[in-house]
Amino acid sequence: MSTTAQTHRLPTDTDDGMVLIISGPSGVGKTTITRGVERSIPDAVFSVSATTRQRTPADVEGVDYHFVDDAEFERMRAAGELLESAGVYGKKYGTPRAWVEEQRRRGRLVILEIDVQGAIQVRRSIPDALGLYILPPDEPTLLQRLRSRKREDEDGIRRRFEAAKKEIADARASGVYAHFLVNQEVRTTIDEAVRIILDERARRRSKS
Ligand code: 5GP
Repeated sequence: MSTTAQTHRLPTDTDDGMVLIISGPSGVGKTTITRGVERSIPDAVFSVSATTRQRTPADVEGVDYHFVDDAEFERMRAAGELLESAGVYGKKYGTPRAWVEEQRRRGRLVILEIDVQGAIQVRRSIPDALGLYILPPDEPTLLQRLRSRKREDEDGIRRRFEAAKKEIADARASGVYAHFLVNQEVRTTIDEAVRIILDERARRRSKS
């Protein structure tokens, strides 16, 4: 039996849908890289997560995140509306399931910028999701980048630095990431990520 979604196929729909997970420690430049990848691939779409964290002046509601309160987040989670969810620095983050599935069905490249805990959950329900992990060139550079964001006090920066080191180890152990990209220079890293994604799509297309 065909579902409504299948009968409403758009002219722009393809069978090329792929979920891309981009992760990396805070301060590594992953948001810039994610947005760069999104701009470089015509059918790429960015999954806007729900979060209970405080909105900063740099954040745009509905573009960077859907900012929700704890009760709404828990409602979404209980209703099965989240593909994955995780606690990061005491705040909750989650990926809207229906939107991701819809975009994937439409053949888009769906980009999830999520942490390692979330990535592990996504891979359980979408085993062919492609994982890229962004690494800092070295630890002193990461510490310096965390400081230059001026988002936390020194204690907060140190906490994120320690958490980053642990997250990198968890990422390596998770088996979720096909590639680890060292972000030496952002434009080069974006180009490298785009090449990996296009190669992977071409490989999948030739197999199907
Ligand atoms: P920030 O608050 O700095 O934007 O993000 C903090 C961390 O939460 C980052 O590592 C980011 O990748 C992660 N994150 C953002 N959205 C999601 C999400 O929907 N799920 C999970 N698991 N992590 C997320």
